[in-house]
Amino acid sequence: MARILAPHITPERPVRRCYLHFSLSLIFLLALFSVRGWSQSLVIKDVTVIDATARAAQPHSTVVIDGDHIVAVSRSKKIHLPHNAVIVDGTGKFLIPGLWDMHVHGASDTRAPWSHLLFVANGVVGVRDMSGPPDAHAWRATQASNPDPSPTIYLGSPIVDGPNPAWPDSIVVADEAQGREVVDQQQQRGADFIKVYSGLSRNAYFAIADEAKKRGIPFEGHVPDAVTAAEASGAGQRSIEHLTQVAEGCSKEEKTIAAERQRLEASFRAPDATMPQKIATGQNIIRLNFHKVESFDEATAQSLLAQFVKNETWQTPTLTLLQGQIDDPLDTNDPRLQYLSKEVRAKWDAGYYSHFPPPARAAMVQLAKAEFDESRKIVALMYRIGVPILAGTDTMNPHCLPGFGIHDELAFLVDAGLPPLAALQAATRNAAQFMGQQSRRGTIEAGKTADLVLLDKDPLADIHNTRSIQAVVLNGKLFPRAALDAMLTKAQTLAGIPDAAASGK
Ligand SMILES: [Zn+2]
Repeated sequence: MARILAPHITPERPVRRCYLHFSLSLIFLLALFSVRGWSQSLVIKDVTVIDATARAAQPHSTVVIDGDHIVAVSRSKKIHLPHNAVIVDGTGKFLIPGLWDMHVHGASDTRAPWSHLLFVANGVVGVRDMSGPPDAHAWRATQASNPDPSPTIYLGSPIVDGPNPAWPDSIVVADEAQGREVVDQQQQRGADFIKVYSGLSRNAYFAIADEAKKRGIPFEGHVPDAVTAAEASGAGQRSIEHLTQVAEGCSKEEKTIAAERQRLEASFRAPDATMPQKIATGQNIIRLNFHKVESFDEATAQSLLAQFVKNETWQTPTLTLLQGQIDDPLDTNDPRLQYLSKEVRAKWDAGYYSHFPPPARAAMVQLAKAEFDESRKIVALMYRIGVPILAGTDTMNPHCLPGFGIHDELAFLVDAGLPPLAALQAATRNAAQFMGQQSRRGTIEAGKTADLVLLDKDPLADIHNTRSIQAVVLNGKLFPRAALDAMLTKAQTLAGIPDAAASGK
């Protein structure tokens, strides 16, 4: 360092030139410093590495990080350690890849830094935002000036829905031409994928599918009400969220149930429907959904799931969301609720069913239970058959906490029948594969981005141990427990400022 800084003054050289030289050297040094980060080299010693590949856990390993990359993972005692490296003693601890929550909302809202801190403090190094801004390029440019640590964001288009969209900021697509146009527009504006939603007509949906395929941009989201899960898989939908239309596709009466559902939904939405008519139709919809669950057929399910495997249709079951639809009202004793903004909390307190009369509410909670149990059964079958699975929560919906929620989802996946390693992979290796970033992310291997979580306890012995976070490494930068606690405190302060992101879709 001293050698570079020493100005080469000779009697012949004018002083002004020396000053210029000195300044350039300083700028060079500062640039070098900012590129390499202040973490220099980082070494995590004597740690059990669970790298999220098929390999077994590797005890007594050393992980060497240079800048934002892993340069070595080794069990050899002779491994070369860089000079001046920050050494973290991993004795008795477990290292997993940083987690990805593959179904979130609000991460690209204007008040995003609040949820970003909750994500990072919980070991979530990346998220897939399922309702992106109108212009992804413009949003990324603004985000570049955010000084707080934030997860990498795989950014969707705004929700693309049919007329009378479910959410206010959706792009409404009424026909085939508009479907093609929205794919073109969103690709140009930098969206990583097109988010499709329930209200799309068949024409609009298949036009989006065709245009997306032509242009090489994925489309992901709900299977529209008018489309079957098998059709969506065949059309190339990259991921299906919340198992939309999947349970229906596992019923041996799919066709008749789908036709009846569409008829009931249309009459429920009819502008001249009276309140008593709406109540009666609502009861019939609940009855039909119970029938859908009861008519589950293993052979039918296997044939649908085999199509998902063949077409590589990924599934994000969001069991956290589905379980949340049973837990109504909110468990106000959950200490994690203190990190929510007032706006989000007010929405959560209202719950899903508060505006329904008590008998209807009871029936809906009962239905949510039956559907959740069936979803768990389907997830277990998906795992056995080899359907690719992603871990996602659906924050900011009630009971889906930013950051904390991914640990809930991992536990739900294990509870449904995934081994702990498979659940971990759903939030790490699978996420990277899904995004086509497996060469850069998702596992603990030399050459990968240094996104890591250091745990006190073994997550393969009990998946709940993913919560025992001792430190997070984000892009090579170390955040020890005290720094993570400071992040949580700051998130709480930011959440206290009104008008925080309250959307959930
Ligand atoms: Zn969602």
